[in-house]
Amino acid sequence: MATNITWHPNLTYDERKQLRNQDGCTIWLTGLSASGKSTIACALEQKLLNKKLSAYRLDGDNIRFGLNKDLGFTEEDRNENIRRISEVSRLFADACTISISSFISPYKADRNRARELHKEAGLKFIEVFVDVPLDIAEKRDPKGLYKKAREGIIKEFTGISAPYEAPESPELHLKTHLKSVEECADDIYNYLVKELIIPA
Ligand code: ADP
Repeated sequence: MATNITWHPNLTYDERKQLRNQDGCTIWLTGLSASGKSTIACALEQKLLNKKLSAYRLDGDNIRFGLNKDLGFTEEDRNENIRRISEVSRLFADACTISISSFISPYKADRNRARELHKEAGLKFIEVFVDVPLDIAEKRDPKGLYKKAREGIIKEFTGISAPYEAPESPELHLKTHLKSVEECADDIYNYLVKELIIPA
């Protein structure tokens, strides 16, 4: 292939961005179980892929059963779970993909570490608080997890028997009891446009 461009032997992020014609970033969805993280992540991923942008979802289904299948739900394992997810998400972002990570991630310190990791690598990190009152999340209960938590079958369940530390200054705050799935996905999409991460 003839080319008059000489690329650096180890491509830099900016060179990758130019060749891929796309910026990468991590969109970190945090919130209670059943707040709507996975549903919004799916809607957003489809919207981005339809615009021919590269996007990929990381969630419990593809992480807990693979990379992190050796981890349980002790505090140490939960921390390690989020640490590994943060690293993987950073790699996707560094590969100029829009990485959509949806995990309860209840602790501020863990989310801040994920943010720092991206900052150190010069990558954008967008924290999205997927917010819903606990009683509504509990009524939705699509997987029956709240019921099991109330019955004591699931121990240390976020919102019931384990804390959820709400973000103080997320880039976006979505109230999923007040907006539709499409409106929530659009809010994130429009934020990416506003921040010049994706074209208008
Ligand atoms: P999570 O991934 O946070 O555990 P899910 O996306 O699996 O939550 O489930 C959320 C449930 O709430 C789904 O049944 C979804 O259809 C419903 N829902 C209602 N309104 C919204 C909304 N605005 N955004 C996201 N989900 C919503």
